[in-house]
Amino acid sequence: MTARIVDGKVLAERLNAETAVKAAAFTKAHGRAPGLAAVLVGEDPASEVYVRRKVKATVAAGMVSIEHKLPAETPEAEILALVHRLNDDPKVDGILFQLPVPKHIDAGRVIDAIDPDKDVDGFHVVNAGRLAVGFDGFVPCTALGCMLLIGEAGTRLEGAEAVVVGRSNLVGKPVSQLLLRRHATVTMAHSRTRDLASVCRRADVLIAAVGRPRMIQADWIKPGATVIDVGISRIEEGGRRRLVGDVAYDGAVQVAGAITPVPGGVGPMTIACLLQNTLRAAERRSGT
Ligand code: NDP
Repeated sequence: MTARIVDGKVLAERLNAETAVKAAAFTKAHGRAPGLAAVLVGEDPASEVYVRRKVKATVAAGMVSIEHKLPAETPEAEILALVHRLNDDPKVDGILFQLPVPKHIDAGRVIDAIDPDKDVDGFHVVNAGRLAVGFDGFVPCTALGCMLLIGEAGTRLEGAEAVVVGRSNLVGKPVSQLLLRRHATVTMAHSRTRDLASVCRRADVLIAAVGRPRMIQADWIKPGATVIDVGISRIEEGGRRRLVGDVAYDGAVQVAGAITPVPGGVGPMTIACLLQNTLRAAERRSGT
């Protein structure tokens, strides 16, 4: 039997449609649309593509997109001053600081300067702390997207063995916290984990957030498991460039119970969750 393919594109479209309805209601009630400011420093081509997609999705959901594209050599002090202006701007509900940034900028310092209640990426230490202690805050969008995909797969989390491969602040740590919150038994694996294959084989839910193309083989997967593949790597194959995940998909699809494809799995969910977070920020700030 082959796995159920959990289609992130379809789920993201559904979420975006729901967000658009709620954004229209917000606009009607408050006389302004929710606003998302994006700050992009330098000319990293991948970041430009991501920001363009985010802007397009924001506008399509009926929200206001405010873009700040700054030259690579912009001094950190100028970026911090911009962040403070955005924090004080009542029309801005969410602030997105696109990573990576040029070397002379301390990304941590800039993220620290963002008002935690406008930190729709959920990267601020205050929001990481809120997540860790179970308070209401903003959760990183990719981690939220993983949880929605698990929900879509119909996987029961209470008491389940969940293995998260990767421990970044962006994905691995927040998704582990969310799984724990849903009463899964969570193992976080990383580059120093011994016998990763047998750790993965225990998983009823396996989340791969590494960035190594097809590292996770079919025989690392427990039959019937739910597999969420966060990894995105660009590889050359058969004379063409393609995007692949951390999971060796063709074999894994024969073993897993449910699996997300790459592309078209976690990727579209990340932007859908960013829009949801922006709407939530607007609602929270307006007291609704
Ligand atoms: P990081 O590079 O920050 O983290 C990678 C993690 O993988 C680290 O914890 C690292 O361990 C672990 N790791 C590296 N090599 C191995 C190995 N051989 N065995 C086990 N673990 C290993 O990456 P991110 O978390 O930012 O992203 C992970 C992947 O997800 C990337 O491919 C990225 O492109 C993708 N991504 C996709 C998104 C989407 O929207 N779909 C959004 C964000 C990321 P250690 O800590 O020990 O070094």
